[in-house]
Amino acid sequence: MEGGSFLNLIESIDKFAVGIFRQFLIREDADKVLILTPNEEYKRWAIAYLSTRLKGFGKKVVVECEGERKEQKEIKSTKDNLLDKYTFENFVVGPSNELAYKVCLEVAKNPGKLFNPLFIYGRSGLGKTHLLHAIGNQLKARYRVLYIPLMDFSDSMVKAFKENRVEEFREKFFNLDVLLLDDVQFLVGKERTQIELFRIYEKLQAEEKQIVLVSDRHPRDLKDVSERLISRFESGLIIEIGLDEETKRRIIKQKLILYGLPLDQETIDYVFENTGYNVREIEGFVKTLKVSGIKRLPKSEELDKEKKVQLIINTVAKGFKLNPELLKKDTKERKVINARHIAMFLCKTILNLPYSQIGEFFGKKDHTAVMYAVKKVEQRCREDRKFMYMVSFFEKSIRKSLGL
Ligand code: ADP
Ligand code: MG
Repeated sequence: MEGGSFLNLIESIDKFAVGIFRQFLIREDADKVLILTPNEEYKRWAIAYLSTRLKGFGKKVVVECEGERKEQKEIKSTKDNLLDKYTFENFVVGPSNELAYKVCLEVAKNPGKLFNPLFIYGRSGLGKTHLLHAIGNQLKARYRVLYIPLMDFSDSMVKAFKENRVEEFREKFFNLDVLLLDDVQFLVGKERTQIELFRIYEKLQAEEKQIVLVSDRHPRDLKDVSERLISRFESGLIIEIGLDEETKRRIIKQKLILYGLPLDQETIDYVFENTGYNVREIEGFVKTLKVSGIKRLPKSEELDKEKKVQLIINTVAKGFKLNPELLKKDTKERKVINARHIAMFLCKTILNLPYSQIGEFFGKKDHTAVMYAVKKVEQRCREDRKFMYMVSFFEKSIRKSLGL
C-alpha cells in the first residue's frame, strides 16, 4: 500500500505534480506501480505527464481510472471491510491532526507495540474513520485485519446469539492481529455488547494484538459504559483530533485539486467562508461547486432572500419580546445574544444561506460569528430539551409563513 518510492521520485522532480499524485490511490510493489485516478480527465493527464517525465524508472507503471475498477473493488471489500480510497497518502496533515496522523502511521508500522490500545476521539467529519482505514490498508497484506463500526459489531453479535453461533463469532475476533473499531460511542447503554467486547479486548491485549478505537468523545465522557471497559480504553494512548484554520485551508486546496477546480485565492476563500470545521461538509461543498459553479443570484432573488431573513428575525424577536433591529446590532445583553443566535441558526437551517451572507444580514463583518452561533444552538438543543422545543416551534412557524 505504500506509495513511497514512486511518490518520492515524483517529489524530487516536481513539487507541484506530487500534490496531484498524492490524491490518487497508489499501489506499489517490488516491480509495479498501479495508479488509480478519480476520473478519465486525470487518467489522461497522468499518462501524458508520466510519459514525458518518468524516464528510466525501474518499475512498470499502470494508470487506471477508479470507475473501471469499481466492480472488482465492491466484491473485494467484504472480508476486512477496508475501503481502498482512505490512505495515509491522501490524508492532509496540519497542526490539529498531525499527532493523530503520526501515531496512526507508527501503529501501521509496528502494530501491537508502542501505542496499544490507541484511542482517537474528535467531532464528526474530521478524518477518524479515514485514519482507521489507512492503518488497515497498510497492514492488510501482512496481518489479519478487521475494520468494524460498533453498530455492525453489535448487530452481528445479536445475530450470532440468535443463531447459536456465539463461539464462531468470538473466534473471528480472537483470530485477529489488528482490530479497528469505529464509533465506539454507540457502546452507550449496550450491556451485552460491552460484555462481548470486553472479552475480545482482554484476549487480544493479552496477546499484544493491536486495537484502535475511535469515538466522538473521550472515554471519560462515555456514559453508561462499564467502568472496566472505560479503564481499559484509558490505559492506552488517547489522542484528540481537531481541525484548525491552517489545516482547513490545506484540505480545501486538496479537494479543489481533486475536483479539478481553480486554486485561486478567491475560490479558496469562498469555500472557507461557507463551510464549517468539518471535512465532510467541505467535500460536499466542493462537489456542489463543481456542479453548479460559484453563483451570484439575480437581484430579484437577492431581494427575496433579504425579506425571508427579515421574517426570521422578526419572528424570533417577537418571541423574545425584543425590537428586531436589536438583533442586528452589537448588543451584549444575554437575551439579545440568545435571540440573535437562534435567528442565525434558523437562517442556516431553513434558508441554507452561506455563513458569510448570513453574517452580512446581521451586520457582522465575518462569518465566524454565524458559525459560532449555529454550533452553540446545536449544542444547546442536544443538552436542553426545553430549548430544543422553543427552537423547533420557531422553525415550524417560520416555515409555515414562508410556505415551505
Ligand atoms: P469522521 O470519521 O471523523 O467522522 P471521516 O474519516 O469519515 O470523518 O472523514 C469525512 C470525509 O473527509 C472523508 O471523505 C475523508 O476522506 C475526508 N477527510 C477527513 N479528514 C481529512 C484529511 N485530513 N485529509 C483529507 N481528507 C480528509
Ligand atoms: Mg467516522
